[in-house]
Amino acid sequence: MVTATRPQPQVKIGPTHLLINNEWVESVSKKKFATINPATGEVICEVAEADAADVDKAVQAARKAFNGEWRQISATARGNLLYRLADLIEENLDELARLETLDNGKPINDSVGDIESVIACYRYYAGWADKVQGKTIPINGPYFCYTRHEPVGVVGQIIPWNFPLLMQAWKLAPALATGNTVVMKTAEQTPLSALRVGELIVEAGFPAGVVNILSGYGPTAGAAIAYHHDIDKVAFTGSTEVGHLIMEAAAKSNLKRVTLELGGKSPNIVFADANIDAAIQAAHEAIFFNQGQCCSAGSRLFVEAKIYDEFVNRSVEIARQRIVGDPFDPNTQQGPQVYQEQFNLVMSYIESGQR
Ligand code: ADP
Repeated sequence: MVTATRPQPQVKIGPTHLLINNEWVESVSKKKFATINPATGEVICEVAEADAADVDKAVQAARKAFNGEWRQISATARGNLLYRLADLIEENLDELARLETLDNGKPINDSVGDIESVIACYRYYAGWADKVQGKTIPINGPYFCYTRHEPVGVVGQIIPWNFPLLMQAWKLAPALATGNTVVMKTAEQTPLSALRVGELIVEAGFPAGVVNILSGYGPTAGAAIAYHHDIDKVAFTGSTEVGHLIMEAAAKSNLKRVTLELGGKSPNIVFADANIDAAIQAAHEAIFFNQGQCCSAGSRLFVEAKIYDEFVNRSVEIARQRIVGDPFDPNTQQGPQVYQEQFNLVMSYIESGQR
């Protein structure tokens, strides 16, 4: 872990309860868990810990909203709510970036970059809300044949810790633009920024129950979403191992639809006639960006034999120059791994490679 080189800046901590039906509530069990600043190992605060009972409450709220108010409002109004949310995130960009860096450890400039993409994402899908079209299909006989795109219903969304706000946006924005309601579980390592966006969702004017946000663990709250009989679809981003469990849970419960975005090995291949300067820089960023914590991290590199030695030497050189340190220092390029177990895992890979 990286030790902070200066006192931790004051960061405004947003809500720490569960967002269910536009209200901030404790968990049914009253349980809480600590979220840690990965740069220092210190507890930032405790957040409410959702379990199956809280998932039930959130699903009921989401179902009621889906059958009620959310179904009645126009597609344009849905888009306008997303535009309003994007504006509110933009107004609070600095505060959100600091919260993201505090809870996740990513360098502050990277957090700002993430949130700029978050804003763009909400605006992009806001524009889609009233442009979702079906087809008219020519058919023999006195018939009128057409298709309509309908919302799926109540959508469960389970997200990881590597891009907390971006993952939230990539999941929420398309689901809301197309008229679904959502029960989202954030990653247990990084609950805070998504909850603050929950506050902005309420402020933007989304009706109660449309977006519900739960902090909690995978095998409890996450599994309760995956197995729930009144959730119509689950969208998951995370490990391949858990992806198997999500699909199994869908099969064993109500055959809900499943979308999985899982990890991978992403090789870069460099030939001798490449622009070597650009290739070295790109290969460096591909593996080091976001502390290497990307599903598409360039974790393999194949280099043509002719340029291999030069490529490796120069790659080592720029890796040595990378500035590792306090993620709140604007010069820092690399902060801590997101939590201790992840750090230990990465170190074990390095050690096994050396052995
Ligand atoms: P990573 O290895 O990237 O941490 P995980 O797949 O363990 O990825 O976690 C991604 C998300 O999946 C997190 O929100 C986590 O809480 C959740 N999760 C973990 N285990 C389960 C499970 N058994 N069922 C549902 N969700 C889970």
